[in-house]
Amino acid sequence: MKNSRFLVILTMLFLVACGSPEKPASSDKDFDKWKNSFIEQYWKIYPGHASSVGFHKYDDILVIPNDVTRNTQIAFSKRMLKELERFDQTTLSAGNQTDFQIIENKLKGRIWEIQELKDWQWDPSGYNICGSFAEMLNNNYDSLDARLRNFSRRLLHVPAYYAAAAKNIQNPTREHTKLAISQNRGGVSVFTTDLPAALERSGLNSAEKDSLLARSDRAVKAIHGYADWLEQLKNDHPRDFRLGQALYKQKFAFEIKSASSPAQIYQKALKHKQQLHKDMIAIAHKIWNKHMGNRPKPGDDLVMVRQLIDTLSVHHVKPENFQAEIERQIPELEKFVNDHKLIYLDPKKPLVVRREPDYMAGVAGASISAPGPYDKNGNTYYNVGSLSGWTSEAQESYLREYNDYVLQILNIHEAVPGHYTQLVYSNQSPSLIKSLFGNGTMIEGWAVYTERMMLESGYGNDLPEMWLMYYKWNLRTTCNTILDYSVHNLGMSQQQALDLLTKEAFQQQAEAEGKWKRATLTQVQLCSYFTGYVEIIELRDELKKKQGNDFNLKQFHEKFLSFGSAPVKDIRKLILE
Ligand code: ZN
Ligand code: ZN
Repeated sequence: MKNSRFLVILTMLFLVACGSPEKPASSDKDFDKWKNSFIEQYWKIYPGHASSVGFHKYDDILVIPNDVTRNTQIAFSKRMLKELERFDQTTLSAGNQTDFQIIENKLKGRIWEIQELKDWQWDPSGYNICGSFAEMLNNNYDSLDARLRNFSRRLLHVPAYYAAAAKNIQNPTREHTKLAISQNRGGVSVFTTDLPAALERSGLNSAEKDSLLARSDRAVKAIHGYADWLEQLKNDHPRDFRLGQALYKQKFAFEIKSASSPAQIYQKALKHKQQLHKDMIAIAHKIWNKHMGNRPKPGDDLVMVRQLIDTLSVHHVKPENFQAEIERQIPELEKFVNDHKLIYLDPKKPLVVRREPDYMAGVAGASISAPGPYDKNGNTYYNVGSLSGWTSEAQESYLREYNDYVLQILNIHEAVPGHYTQLVYSNQSPSLIKSLFGNGTMIEGWAVYTERMMLESGYGNDLPEMWLMYYKWNLRTTCNTILDYSVHNLGMSQQQALDLLTKEAFQQQAEAEGKWKRATLTQVQLCSYFTGYVEIIELRDELKKKQGNDFNLKQFHEKFLSFGSAPVKDIRKLILE
Protein backbone atom coordinates (compact mmCIF):
# COMPACT_ATOMS: atom_id res chain seq x y z
CA MET A 1 0.00 0.00 0.00
CA LYS A 2 1.15 3.49 -0.87
CA ASN A 3 0.63 4.97 2.57
CA SER A 4 2.46 2.46 4.68
CA ARG A 5 5.68 4.44 4.71
CA PHE A 6 3.90 7.56 5.89
CA LEU A 7 2.32 5.67 8.76
CA VAL A 8 5.62 4.18 9.82
CA ILE A 9 7.15 7.64 10.04
CA LEU A 10 4.25 8.89 12.12
CA THR A 11 4.50 5.95 14.49
CA MET A 12 8.19 6.59 15.04
CA LEU A 13 7.54 10.21 15.83
CA PHE A 14 5.02 9.22 18.43
CA LEU A 15 7.47 6.92 20.15
CA VAL A 16 10.02 9.69 20.31
CA ALA A 17 7.43 12.17 21.56
CA CYS A 18 6.20 9.85 24.27
CA GLY A 19 9.70 9.07 25.47
CA SER A 20 10.64 12.64 26.33
CA PRO A 21 9.26 14.52 29.35
CA GLU A 22 6.71 17.32 28.81
CA LYS A 23 8.36 20.69 28.26
CA PRO A 24 7.20 23.94 26.69
CA ALA A 25 7.06 23.43 22.94
CA SER A 26 8.34 26.30 20.89
CA SER A 27 10.80 25.09 18.30
CA ASP A 28 10.18 24.09 14.72
CA LYS A 29 11.01 20.49 15.54
CA ASP A 30 8.29 20.37 18.16
CA PHE A 31 5.82 22.06 15.87
CA ASP A 32 6.59 19.66 13.02
CA LYS A 33 5.89 16.77 15.37
CA TRP A 34 2.65 18.35 16.47
CA LYS A 35 1.54 18.92 12.87
CA ASN A 36 1.98 15.23 12.11
CA SER A 37 -0.11 14.18 15.06
CA PHE A 38 -2.70 16.83 14.18
CA ILE A 39 -3.07 15.46 10.66
CA GLU A 40 -3.34 11.89 11.84
CA GLN A 41 -6.17 12.86 14.19
CA TYR A 42 -7.75 15.09 11.59
CA TRP A 43 -8.15 12.17 9.17
CA LYS A 44 -10.03 10.20 11.80
CA ILE A 45 -12.53 13.03 12.16
CA TYR A 46 -12.73 13.78 8.40
CA PRO A 47 -12.16 10.41 6.65
CA GLY A 48 -13.97 11.59 3.50
CA HIS A 49 -11.48 14.40 3.06
CA ALA A 50 -8.66 11.91 3.65
CA SER A 51 -9.85 9.66 0.81
CA SER A 52 -10.26 12.60 -1.54
CA VAL A 53 -6.60 13.61 -1.16
CA GLY A 54 -5.27 10.08 -1.56
CA PHE A 55 -5.02 8.90 2.06
CA HIS A 56 -7.03 5.71 1.90
CA LYS A 57 -6.79 4.23 5.37
CA TYR A 58 -10.38 5.19 6.24
CA ASP A 59 -12.05 4.51 2.89
CA ASP A 60 -14.65 2.19 4.41
CA ILE A 61 -15.98 4.84 6.79
CA LEU A 62 -18.97 7.03 5.96
CA VAL A 63 -19.53 9.80 8.48
CA ILE A 64 -23.19 10.20 9.46
CA PRO A 65 -23.97 13.93 9.49
CA ASN A 66 -25.78 14.06 12.83
CA ASP A 67 -25.46 15.99 16.11
CA VAL A 68 -22.94 13.53 17.53
CA THR A 69 -20.65 14.06 14.56
CA ARG A 70 -20.95 17.84 14.67
CA ASN A 71 -20.24 17.88 18.40
CA THR A 72 -17.23 15.65 17.88
CA GLN A 73 -15.93 18.05 15.22
CA ILE A 74 -16.40 21.07 17.46
CA ALA A 75 -14.70 19.33 20.38
CA PHE A 76 -11.82 18.33 18.12
CA SER A 77 -11.38 21.92 16.87
CA LYS A 78 -11.40 23.27 20.43
CA ARG A 79 -8.93 20.69 21.65
CA MET A 80 -6.53 21.37 18.78
CA LEU A 81 -6.83 25.15 19.23
CA LYS A 82 -5.91 24.67 22.86
CA GLU A 83 -2.87 22.62 21.86
CA LEU A 84 -1.84 25.33 19.40
CA GLU A 85 -1.62 27.79 22.29
CA ARG A 86 1.47 25.96 23.53
CA PHE A 87 3.48 27.32 20.59
CA ASP A 88 4.99 30.75 20.42
CA GLN A 89 4.52 31.76 16.80
CA THR A 90 7.40 34.22 16.82
CA THR A 91 9.92 31.42 17.45
CA LEU A 92 8.80 29.46 14.38
CA SER A 93 10.17 29.53 10.84
CA ALA A 94 8.25 31.49 8.19
CA GLY A 95 6.85 28.26 6.77
CA ASN A 96 5.64 27.10 10.17
CA GLN A 97 4.16 30.48 11.05
CA THR A 98 1.94 30.32 7.98
CA ASP A 99 1.11 26.68 8.70
CA PHE A 100 0.14 27.70 12.23
CA GLN A 101 -2.23 30.34 10.93
CA ILE A 102 -3.70 28.08 8.29
CA ILE A 103 -4.47 25.39 10.88
CA GLU A 104 -5.92 27.89 13.35
CA ASN A 105 -8.13 29.38 10.64
CA LYS A 106 -9.28 25.94 9.52
CA LEU A 107 -10.27 24.90 13.05
CA LYS A 108 -12.07 28.15 13.87
CA GLY A 109 -13.74 28.11 10.48
CA ARG A 110 -15.26 24.69 11.10
CA ILE A 111 -16.74 25.77 14.43
CA TRP A 112 -18.16 28.84 12.71
CA GLU A 113 -19.72 26.79 9.91
CA ILE A 114 -21.48 24.48 12.33
CA GLN A 115 -22.62 27.11 14.84
CA GLU A 116 -23.16 30.25 12.76
CA LEU A 117 -23.34 29.56 9.03
CA LYS A 118 -25.46 26.43 9.59
CA ASP A 119 -25.45 25.46 5.94
CA TRP A 120 -25.97 21.90 7.17
CA GLN A 121 -29.56 23.03 7.79
CA TRP A 122 -30.33 25.05 4.69
CA ASP A 123 -28.20 23.50 1.93
CA PRO A 124 -29.60 20.04 1.04
CA SER A 125 -27.06 19.68 -1.78
CA GLY A 126 -24.34 19.31 0.84
CA TYR A 127 -25.59 15.73 1.21
CA ASN A 128 -24.51 13.59 -1.68
CA ILE A 129 -22.40 10.45 -1.49
CA CYS A 130 -22.32 9.61 -5.20
CA GLY A 131 -19.10 11.40 -6.18
CA SER A 132 -17.02 9.84 -3.43
CA PHE A 133 -18.22 6.35 -4.40
CA ALA A 134 -17.45 7.09 -8.05
CA GLU A 135 -13.90 8.00 -7.02
CA MET A 136 -13.49 4.58 -5.41
CA LEU A 137 -14.34 2.90 -8.70
CA ASN A 138 -12.34 5.21 -10.96
CA ASN A 139 -9.11 5.79 -9.06
CA ASN A 140 -6.58 2.99 -9.30
CA TYR A 141 -4.85 3.52 -5.95
CA ASP A 142 -5.45 -0.11 -4.96
CA SER A 143 -6.63 -3.34 -6.59
CA LEU A 144 -10.22 -3.28 -7.83
CA ASP A 145 -11.19 -6.05 -5.42
CA ALA A 146 -9.81 -4.19 -2.41
CA ARG A 147 -11.59 -1.02 -3.49
CA LEU A 148 -14.86 -2.88 -3.99
CA ARG A 149 -14.67 -4.43 -0.52
CA ASN A 150 -14.24 -0.98 1.02
CA PHE A 151 -17.01 0.27 -1.25
CA SER A 152 -19.28 -2.43 0.16
CA ARG A 153 -18.49 -1.69 3.80
CA ARG A 154 -19.03 2.01 3.27
CA LEU A 155 -22.26 1.44 1.37
CA LEU A 156 -23.83 -0.14 4.42
CA HIS A 157 -24.16 3.30 6.07
CA VAL A 158 -25.84 5.16 3.21
CA PRO A 159 -29.44 4.79 4.50
CA ALA A 160 -28.42 6.17 7.93
CA TYR A 161 -26.56 8.99 6.18
CA TYR A 162 -29.64 10.19 4.26
CA ALA A 163 -31.90 9.73 7.27
CA ALA A 164 -29.64 12.08 9.23
CA ALA A 165 -29.52 14.50 6.30
CA ALA A 166 -33.31 14.78 6.14
CA LYS A 167 -33.43 15.33 9.89
CA ASN A 168 -31.00 18.26 9.56
CA ILE A 169 -32.91 20.17 6.89
CA GLN A 170 -34.85 23.25 7.98
CA ASN A 171 -36.25 25.92 5.64
CA PRO A 172 -33.73 25.13 2.89
CA THR A 173 -33.22 27.55 0.02
CA ARG A 174 -35.21 26.67 -3.09
CA GLU A 175 -32.06 26.82 -5.23
CA HIS A 176 -30.06 24.34 -3.16
CA THR A 177 -33.08 22.07 -2.83
CA LYS A 178 -33.43 21.89 -6.60
CA LEU A 179 -29.71 21.24 -6.97
CA ALA A 180 -29.78 18.49 -4.32
CA ILE A 181 -32.61 16.69 -6.11
CA SER A 182 -30.98 16.76 -9.54
CA GLN A 183 -27.45 15.96 -8.36
CA ASN A 184 -28.51 13.08 -6.14
CA ARG A 185 -30.78 11.55 -8.77
CA GLY A 186 -28.08 12.02 -11.42
CA GLY A 187 -25.43 10.48 -9.21
CA VAL A 188 -27.31 7.22 -8.86
CA SER A 189 -25.77 5.99 -12.13
CA VAL A 190 -22.64 5.20 -10.13
CA PHE A 191 -24.58 2.32 -8.58
CA THR A 192 -26.82 1.34 -11.47
CA THR A 193 -24.24 1.54 -14.30
CA ASP A 194 -20.64 1.87 -13.09
CA LEU A 195 -20.85 -0.60 -10.20
CA PRO A 196 -22.23 -3.57 -12.20
CA ALA A 197 -19.54 -2.95 -14.85
CA ALA A 198 -16.82 -2.91 -12.18
CA LEU A 199 -18.19 -6.11 -10.61
CA GLU A 200 -17.91 -7.85 -13.99
CA ARG A 201 -14.18 -7.13 -14.09
CA SER A 202 -13.59 -8.00 -10.45
CA GLY A 203 -12.48 -11.19 -8.76
CA LEU A 204 -15.13 -11.04 -6.03
CA ASN A 205 -16.95 -14.31 -5.38
CA SER A 206 -20.68 -14.55 -5.99
CA ALA A 207 -21.61 -14.21 -2.31
CA GLU A 208 -19.62 -10.98 -2.07
CA LYS A 209 -21.16 -9.69 -5.26
CA ASP A 210 -24.69 -10.49 -4.07
CA SER A 211 -24.15 -8.77 -0.77
CA LEU A 212 -22.69 -5.72 -2.48
CA LEU A 213 -25.59 -5.50 -4.93
CA ALA A 214 -28.13 -5.81 -2.13
CA ARG A 215 -26.44 -2.96 -0.23
CA SER A 216 -26.29 -0.96 -3.44
CA ASP A 217 -30.06 -1.43 -3.92
CA ARG A 218 -30.74 -0.12 -0.43
CA ALA A 219 -28.41 2.83 -1.05
CA VAL A 220 -30.17 3.73 -4.30
CA LYS A 221 -33.53 3.59 -2.51
CA ALA A 222 -32.16 5.89 0.21
CA ILE A 223 -30.89 8.40 -2.38
CA HIS A 224 -34.16 8.50 -4.29
CA GLY A 225 -35.99 8.55 -0.97
CA TYR A 226 -34.10 11.70 0.00
CA ALA A 227 -34.83 13.32 -3.37
CA ASP A 228 -38.52 12.36 -3.10
CA TRP A 229 -38.66 13.73 0.40
CA LEU A 230 -37.14 17.04 -0.75
CA GLU A 231 -39.60 17.27 -3.64
CA GLN A 232 -42.54 16.88 -1.29
CA LEU A 233 -41.12 19.01 1.51
CA LYS A 234 -43.52 21.71 2.64
CA ASN A 235 -41.26 24.74 2.61
CA ASP A 236 -43.33 27.87 3.14
CA HIS A 237 -40.44 29.93 4.47
CA PRO A 238 -37.42 29.00 2.39
CA ARG A 239 -34.19 30.65 3.37
CA ASP A 240 -33.02 33.32 0.94
CA PHE A 241 -30.08 32.09 -1.13
CA ARG A 242 -28.51 35.49 -0.50
CA LEU A 243 -26.17 35.06 2.42
CA GLY A 244 -26.61 38.58 3.84
CA GLN A 245 -23.94 41.01 5.00
CA ALA A 246 -23.05 39.61 8.42
CA LEU A 247 -22.48 36.00 7.36
CA TYR A 248 -20.88 37.06 4.09
CA LYS A 249 -18.30 39.13 5.87
CA GLN A 250 -17.38 36.24 8.14
CA LYS A 251 -17.26 33.68 5.37
CA PHE A 252 -15.05 36.04 3.40
CA ALA A 253 -12.73 36.35 6.39
CA PHE A 254 -12.36 32.57 6.81
CA GLU A 255 -12.11 31.59 3.16
CA ILE A 256 -10.56 34.51 1.29
CA LYS A 257 -8.16 35.63 4.03
CA SER A 258 -7.66 39.10 2.58
CA ALA A 259 -6.27 42.18 4.29
CA SER A 260 -9.29 44.05 2.88
CA SER A 261 -12.96 43.75 3.78
CA PRO A 262 -15.44 42.49 1.17
CA ALA A 263 -16.78 46.04 0.74
CA GLN A 264 -13.27 47.34 0.02
CA ILE A 265 -12.62 44.58 -2.54
CA TYR A 266 -15.98 45.34 -4.14
CA GLN A 267 -15.03 49.02 -4.50
CA LYS A 268 -11.68 48.03 -6.04
CA ALA A 269 -13.47 45.78 -8.52
CA LEU A 270 -15.85 48.58 -9.55
CA LYS A 271 -12.94 50.93 -10.12
CA HIS A 272 -11.01 48.29 -12.02
CA LYS A 273 -14.00 47.62 -14.29
CA GLN A 274 -14.12 51.31 -15.14
CA GLN A 275 -10.43 51.35 -15.98
CA LEU A 276 -10.76 48.25 -18.15
CA HIS A 277 -13.63 49.82 -20.08
CA LYS A 278 -11.58 52.94 -20.65
CA ASP A 279 -8.63 50.95 -21.96
CA MET A 280 -10.81 48.76 -24.15
CA ILE A 281 -12.60 51.70 -25.70
CA ALA A 282 -9.28 53.36 -26.52
CA ILE A 283 -8.01 50.21 -28.25
CA ALA A 284 -11.28 49.73 -30.10
CA HIS A 285 -11.10 53.23 -31.57
CA LYS A 286 -7.54 52.53 -32.70
CA ILE A 287 -8.16 49.22 -34.49
CA TRP A 288 -11.79 49.55 -35.57
CA ASN A 289 -11.07 50.26 -39.23
CA LYS A 290 -8.41 47.58 -39.46
CA HIS A 291 -10.98 44.88 -38.66
CA MET A 292 -14.33 46.44 -39.52
CA GLY A 293 -13.42 48.31 -42.73
CA ASN A 294 -15.62 51.35 -43.12
CA ARG A 295 -18.51 49.94 -41.12
CA PRO A 296 -19.75 52.88 -39.04
CA LYS A 297 -18.83 52.82 -35.35
CA PRO A 298 -21.85 52.40 -33.07
CA GLY A 299 -22.61 55.46 -30.96
CA ASP A 300 -22.43 53.46 -27.74
CA ASP A 301 -18.77 52.76 -26.90
CA LEU A 302 -19.46 49.47 -25.15
CA VAL A 303 -21.46 48.26 -28.14
CA MET A 304 -18.48 49.17 -30.33
CA VAL A 305 -16.15 47.12 -28.11
CA ARG A 306 -18.56 44.20 -28.20
CA GLN A 307 -18.74 44.18 -32.02
CA LEU A 308 -14.98 44.22 -32.28
CA ILE A 309 -14.63 41.36 -29.79
CA ASP A 310 -17.17 39.30 -31.73
CA THR A 311 -15.26 39.90 -34.95
CA LEU A 312 -11.90 38.96 -33.43
CA SER A 313 -13.35 35.83 -31.81
CA VAL A 314 -13.82 34.25 -35.23
CA HIS A 315 -10.08 33.54 -35.24
CA HIS A 316 -9.79 30.17 -33.58
CA VAL A 317 -8.41 26.67 -34.10
CA LYS A 318 -10.35 23.81 -35.65
CA PRO A 319 -12.03 21.58 -33.05
CA GLU A 320 -9.79 18.62 -33.90
CA ASN A 321 -6.66 20.75 -33.34
CA PHE A 322 -7.63 22.13 -29.94
CA GLN A 323 -5.46 19.83 -27.82
CA ALA A 324 -2.54 19.84 -30.28
CA GLU A 325 -2.50 23.64 -30.20
CA ILE A 326 -2.31 23.64 -26.40
CA GLU A 327 0.57 21.14 -26.50
CA ARG A 328 2.38 23.31 -29.02
CA GLN A 329 2.05 26.43 -26.90
CA ILE A 330 3.44 25.10 -23.61
CA PRO A 331 7.13 24.99 -24.72
CA GLU A 332 6.69 28.43 -26.28
CA LEU A 333 5.47 29.85 -23.01
CA GLU A 334 8.37 28.21 -21.19
CA LYS A 335 10.84 29.70 -23.64
CA PHE A 336 9.33 33.15 -23.22
CA VAL A 337 9.51 32.91 -19.44
CA ASN A 338 13.15 31.79 -19.58
CA ASP A 339 14.22 34.33 -22.23
CA HIS A 340 12.67 37.18 -20.27
CA LYS A 341 13.94 35.92 -16.91
CA LEU A 342 10.51 36.01 -15.31
CA ILE A 343 10.86 33.04 -12.98
CA TYR A 344 12.98 29.89 -12.74
CA LEU A 345 11.23 26.85 -14.26
CA ASP A 346 12.35 23.41 -13.14
CA PRO A 347 13.02 21.43 -16.36
CA LYS A 348 12.80 18.15 -14.47
CA LYS A 349 9.08 18.51 -13.82
CA PRO A 350 7.25 18.05 -17.11
CA LEU A 351 3.59 18.85 -17.57
CA VAL A 352 1.62 16.13 -19.36
CA VAL A 353 -1.14 17.36 -21.63
CA ARG A 354 -3.88 14.75 -21.97
CA ARG A 355 -7.46 14.33 -23.07
CA GLU A 356 -9.77 14.84 -20.11
CA PRO A 357 -10.67 11.42 -18.63
CA ASP A 358 -14.34 10.51 -19.03
CA TYR A 359 -15.18 10.48 -15.34
CA MET A 360 -14.27 14.17 -15.05
CA ALA A 361 -17.70 15.04 -16.44
CA GLY A 362 -16.42 17.62 -18.92
CA VAL A 363 -17.62 20.76 -17.17
CA ALA A 364 -14.43 22.79 -17.47
CA GLY A 365 -12.65 23.09 -20.80
CA ALA A 366 -9.21 22.76 -19.30
CA SER A 367 -7.89 22.08 -15.85
CA ILE A 368 -4.75 21.04 -14.02
CA SER A 369 -4.79 17.89 -11.93
CA ALA A 370 -1.92 17.62 -9.59
CA PRO A 371 -0.68 14.59 -7.72
CA GLY A 372 -1.96 14.69 -4.15
CA PRO A 373 0.42 15.15 -1.21
CA TYR A 374 0.49 11.36 -0.72
CA ASP A 375 1.55 10.74 -4.31
CA LYS A 376 4.52 13.03 -4.82
CA ASN A 377 5.92 11.23 -7.86
CA GLY A 378 2.66 11.22 -9.78
CA ASN A 379 2.30 13.20 -12.99
CA THR A 380 0.78 16.63 -13.22
CA TYR A 381 -1.81 16.62 -15.99
CA TYR A 382 -3.23 19.40 -18.08
CA ASN A 383 -6.68 17.96 -18.83
CA VAL A 384 -8.15 19.22 -22.07
CA GLY A 385 -11.83 18.60 -22.72
CA SER A 386 -12.47 16.91 -26.05
CA LEU A 387 -14.92 18.59 -28.41
CA SER A 388 -15.72 15.41 -30.30
CA GLY A 389 -19.38 14.50 -30.06
CA TRP A 390 -20.45 18.13 -29.63
CA THR A 391 -22.85 19.73 -32.10
CA SER A 392 -21.10 22.07 -34.50
CA GLU A 393 -22.94 25.03 -32.96
CA ALA A 394 -21.66 24.11 -29.50
CA GLN A 395 -18.13 23.65 -30.87
CA GLU A 396 -18.23 26.99 -32.62
CA SER A 397 -19.49 28.86 -29.59
CA TYR A 398 -16.87 27.23 -27.36
CA LEU A 399 -14.02 27.90 -29.78
CA ARG A 400 -15.04 31.52 -30.22
CA GLU A 401 -14.75 31.91 -26.48
CA TYR A 402 -11.35 30.17 -26.49
CA ASN A 403 -10.23 31.93 -29.63
CA ASP A 404 -6.60 32.33 -30.74
CA TYR A 405 -6.01 35.14 -28.24
CA VAL A 406 -7.84 33.79 -25.22
CA LEU A 407 -6.43 30.29 -25.64
CA GLN A 408 -2.95 31.71 -25.02
CA ILE A 409 -4.17 33.49 -21.89
CA LEU A 410 -5.84 30.29 -20.71
CA ASN A 411 -2.53 28.42 -21.10
CA ILE A 412 -0.71 31.11 -19.15
CA HIS A 413 -3.33 30.84 -16.39
CA GLU A 414 -3.53 27.05 -16.16
CA ALA A 415 0.02 26.11 -17.02
CA VAL A 416 3.05 28.38 -17.46
CA PRO A 417 3.72 30.43 -15.42
CA GLY A 418 0.27 30.10 -13.76
CA HIS A 419 -1.16 27.19 -11.76
CA TYR A 420 1.30 24.56 -12.91
CA THR A 421 4.40 26.64 -12.15
CA GLN A 422 3.01 27.67 -8.76
CA LEU A 423 2.38 24.04 -7.97
CA VAL A 424 5.96 23.03 -8.69
CA TYR A 425 7.13 25.74 -6.30
CA SER A 426 4.67 24.81 -3.58
CA ASN A 427 5.87 21.20 -3.77
CA GLN A 428 9.42 22.43 -3.22
CA SER A 429 8.48 24.00 0.08
CA PRO A 430 6.97 20.81 1.39
CA SER A 431 4.15 21.46 3.78
CA LEU A 432 1.43 18.88 4.06
CA ILE A 433 -0.68 21.57 5.75
CA LYS A 434 -0.47 23.92 2.78
CA SER A 435 -1.08 21.24 0.19
CA LEU A 436 -4.16 20.11 2.12
CA PHE A 437 -5.59 23.45 3.25
CA GLY A 438 -3.82 25.91 0.94
CA ASN A 439 -5.32 29.34 0.33
CA GLY A 440 -7.42 29.33 -2.86
CA THR A 441 -7.25 33.12 -3.15
CA MET A 442 -3.47 33.07 -3.39
CA ILE A 443 -3.55 30.16 -5.87
CA GLU A 444 -6.12 31.77 -8.18
CA GLY A 445 -4.68 35.23 -7.66
CA TRP A 446 -1.27 34.04 -8.83
CA ALA A 447 -2.70 32.52 -12.03
CA VAL A 448 -4.67 35.68 -12.80
CA TYR A 449 -1.65 37.85 -11.98
CA THR A 450 0.60 35.96 -14.42
CA GLU A 451 -1.75 36.70 -17.32
CA ARG A 452 -1.14 40.40 -16.95
CA MET A 453 2.52 40.03 -16.05
CA MET A 454 3.22 38.05 -19.25
CA LEU A 455 1.57 40.67 -21.44
CA GLU A 456 3.38 43.47 -19.62
CA SER A 457 6.63 41.62 -20.29
CA GLY A 458 5.94 41.66 -24.01
CA TYR A 459 4.21 38.34 -24.56
CA GLY A 460 1.97 38.68 -27.62
CA ASN A 461 4.19 41.46 -29.00
CA ASP A 462 2.04 44.15 -27.41
CA LEU A 463 -0.61 43.54 -30.07
CA PRO A 464 -3.66 45.71 -29.35
CA GLU A 465 -5.92 42.79 -30.30
CA MET A 466 -4.22 40.62 -27.67
CA TRP A 467 -4.64 43.31 -25.02
CA LEU A 468 -8.29 43.82 -25.92
CA MET A 469 -9.04 40.12 -25.52
CA TYR A 470 -7.01 39.99 -22.32
CA TYR A 471 -9.04 42.85 -20.91
CA LYS A 472 -12.23 40.99 -21.75
CA TRP A 473 -10.89 37.93 -19.92
CA ASN A 474 -9.85 40.06 -16.94
CA LEU A 475 -13.30 41.67 -16.90
CA ARG A 476 -14.78 38.24 -16.24
CA THR A 477 -12.69 37.91 -13.10
CA THR A 478 -13.51 41.45 -12.03
CA CYS A 479 -17.24 41.03 -12.62
CA ASN A 480 -17.26 37.72 -10.74
CA THR A 481 -16.44 39.75 -7.65
CA ILE A 482 -18.95 42.50 -8.39
CA LEU A 483 -21.64 39.89 -9.04
CA ASP A 484 -20.97 37.81 -5.93
CA TYR A 485 -20.81 40.79 -3.62
CA SER A 486 -23.88 42.46 -5.13
CA VAL A 487 -26.01 39.32 -5.12
CA HIS A 488 -25.30 38.38 -1.51
CA ASN A 489 -25.06 41.85 0.05
CA LEU A 490 -27.01 44.29 -2.09
CA GLY A 491 -29.93 42.23 -3.36
CA MET A 492 -28.91 42.36 -7.04
CA SER A 493 -31.67 40.88 -9.19
CA GLN A 494 -31.23 38.27 -11.91
CA GLN A 495 -31.91 40.85 -14.63
CA GLN A 496 -29.36 43.27 -13.20
CA ALA A 497 -26.84 40.44 -13.03
CA LEU A 498 -27.42 39.39 -16.63
CA ASP A 499 -27.14 43.01 -17.80
CA LEU A 500 -23.83 43.39 -15.98
CA LEU A 501 -22.39 40.23 -17.49
CA THR A 502 -23.63 40.61 -21.06
CA LYS A 503 -23.46 44.37 -21.55
CA GLU A 504 -20.51 45.32 -19.40
CA ALA A 505 -18.44 42.10 -19.47
CA PHE A 506 -19.37 41.16 -23.07
CA GLN A 507 -20.42 37.62 -22.19
CA GLN A 508 -22.76 35.36 -24.16
CA GLN A 509 -26.24 34.87 -22.72
CA ALA A 510 -25.58 31.22 -21.86
CA GLU A 511 -22.37 32.01 -20.01
CA ALA A 512 -24.06 34.80 -18.08
CA GLU A 513 -26.96 32.57 -17.06
CA GLY A 514 -24.56 29.90 -15.86
CA LYS A 515 -22.71 32.48 -13.80
CA TRP A 516 -25.94 33.74 -12.25
CA LYS A 517 -26.80 30.21 -11.23
CA ARG A 518 -23.37 29.75 -9.70
CA ALA A 519 -23.77 32.98 -7.72
CA THR A 520 -27.05 31.71 -6.27
CA LEU A 521 -25.46 28.43 -5.17
CA THR A 522 -22.06 29.57 -3.87
CA GLN A 523 -20.90 32.47 -1.77
CA VAL A 524 -17.55 34.26 -1.59
CA GLN A 525 -15.58 31.83 -3.80
CA LEU A 526 -16.23 33.89 -6.94
CA CYS A 527 -14.30 36.74 -5.26
CA SER A 528 -11.09 34.75 -4.86
CA TYR A 529 -9.69 35.39 -8.37
CA PHE A 530 -9.87 39.15 -8.33
CA THR A 531 -8.97 39.53 -4.65
CA GLY A 532 -5.79 37.48 -4.98
CA TYR A 533 -4.86 39.24 -8.20
CA VAL A 534 -5.28 42.73 -6.80
CA GLU A 535 -3.37 41.88 -3.62
CA ILE A 536 -0.39 40.52 -5.57
CA ILE A 537 -0.33 43.59 -7.84
CA GLU A 538 -0.47 45.85 -4.76
CA LEU A 539 2.34 43.95 -3.06
CA ARG A 540 4.48 44.19 -6.20
CA ASP A 541 3.86 47.93 -6.47
CA GLU A 542 4.69 48.37 -2.80
CA LEU A 543 8.00 46.55 -3.23
CA LYS A 544 8.86 48.43 -6.43
CA LYS A 545 8.38 51.68 -4.59
CA LYS A 546 10.43 50.55 -1.63
CA GLN A 547 13.28 48.93 -3.55
CA GLY A 548 13.45 51.35 -6.48
CA ASN A 549 16.15 50.27 -8.93
CA ASP A 550 16.93 47.21 -6.84
CA PHE A 551 13.54 45.69 -7.58
CA ASN A 552 13.91 42.49 -9.57
CA LEU A 553 10.81 40.86 -11.02
CA LYS A 554 12.26 37.34 -11.16
CA GLN A 555 13.40 37.52 -7.55
CA PHE A 556 10.01 38.82 -6.49
CA HIS A 557 8.19 35.92 -8.17
CA GLU A 558 10.50 33.28 -6.75
CA LYS A 559 10.35 34.76 -3.27
CA PHE A 560 6.58 35.12 -3.43
CA LEU A 561 6.07 31.47 -4.39
CA SER A 562 8.65 30.14 -1.94
CA PHE A 563 6.22 30.31 1.00
CA GLY A 564 3.74 27.86 -0.53
CA SER A 565 0.00 28.45 -0.89
CA ALA A 566 -0.39 30.82 2.06
CA PRO A 567 -2.69 33.88 2.10
CA VAL A 568 -1.18 36.85 0.24
CA LYS A 569 -1.37 39.05 3.33
CA ASP A 570 0.77 36.57 5.29
CA ILE A 571 3.28 36.30 2.45
CA ARG A 572 3.39 40.08 2.33
CA LYS A 573 4.34 40.22 5.99
CA LEU A 574 7.07 37.63 5.54
CA ILE A 575 8.53 39.37 2.49
CA LEU A 576 8.55 42.80 4.12
CA GLU A 577 10.18 41.52 7.30
ZN1 ZN B 1 -15.54 29.63 -36.37
ZN1 ZN C 1 -7.47 29.11 -12.02
